[in-house]
Amino acid sequence: MEFLRPATLAEALALKAERPGAVPIAGGTDVMVELNFDHRRPEALLDLTRVGELTEWSTVEDGTVRLGAGVPYSRVITELGESVPALAMASRTVGSPQIRNRGTVGGNLGAASPAGDTHPVLLALDARIEVASVRGTRLLAAEEFYVGVKRHALEPDELITAVHLPAHAGPQQFAKVGTRNAMVIAVCSFALALRNGQVGAAIGSAAPTPRRARAAEEFLAAELPWGSSEALPDSLKRRFGDLVAEATSPIDDVRGSAAYRKHALGVLARRTLTWAWDEHRTGERACA
Ligand SMILES: Cc1cc2nc3c(=O)[nH]c(=O)nc-3n(C[C@H](O)[C@H](O)[C@H](O)COP(=O)(O)OP(=O)(O)OC[C@H]3O[C@@H](n4cnc5c(N)ncnc54)[C@H](O)[C@@H]3O)c2cc1C
Repeated sequence: MEFLRPATLAEALALKAERPGAVPIAGGTDVMVELNFDHRRPEALLDLTRVGELTEWSTVEDGTVRLGAGVPYSRVITELGESVPALAMASRTVGSPQIRNRGTVGGNLGAASPAGDTHPVLLALDARIEVASVRGTRLLAAEEFYVGVKRHALEPDELITAVHLPAHAGPQQFAKVGTRNAMVIAVCSFALALRNGQVGAAIGSAAPTPRRARAAEEFLAAELPWGSSEALPDSLKRRFGDLVAEATSPIDDVRGSAAYRKHALGVLARRTLTWAWDEHRTGERACA
């Protein structure tokens, strides 16, 4: 197996164009598991760790954060907790410190597992995924990115270069059910964002792809008493939870049954709504 080591993004894209079968490797926390278990044996690995352009983030003009695909979770937690809190919350739940030091949002997207923790956040925040090749750069809505179980919308010569997220975009929450707090793939997960009268709500590990709960979003956007500082009635939270549960199409597997996932997502939806609404009405964030 060849090990290709580009030093710049231009070199990485040229190599990917020449060798579309080369498998990108960033933190390696998914790729190395696959190689160690002999699940795949690619002709070449394309090591992205020396490509500086992928390991930076910046705030661009309209208040959007452009997060390089190769920024590890540990930096998302320490550097983006204020501007993109839900992504930092999700990052805190990934694996162990070692995994968070190596693993990246770009790698989570590349793996495109329905259980990946960043996906519900990217969907709820209307993130855009920046992908590039020698042919140019394009921005995909997060919703267009996930096309099937562990399948994404990248062309064979493309790399994920960054994720664009709104900064300081209002109350947002992420919550996950797992058997313990570390080293655990989600049984199910949920992200919620309340933004100027709009609602983003998305589920993980409860359908073939991460997905938005559209009917729940529309219900909440219409029914939330946006100008009020009152707590929300239980009936509204319950209806929201029911609509989120209805948006799922989970399976039974080793981590949990379909029925449990549906139930748990209703609970996570109600809980995160309580926390996000409390932040909306008091200005104080409850941290999941
Ligand atoms: C012990 C353990 C615990 C874990 N816990 C969690 C968890 O709690 N939550 C969770 O979501 N995940 C978890 N994971 C999975 C993994 O850590 C994450 O998916 C992580 O985000 C992968 O990032 P990476 O940089 O290591 O990706 P890599 O392993 O380097 O790559 C992953 C995939 O993305 C592709 N890729 C990487 N970068 C790019 C790029 N720039 N462009 C195109 N394709 C690219 C690779 O080819 C590969 O297919 C865990 C893994 C382990 C081993």
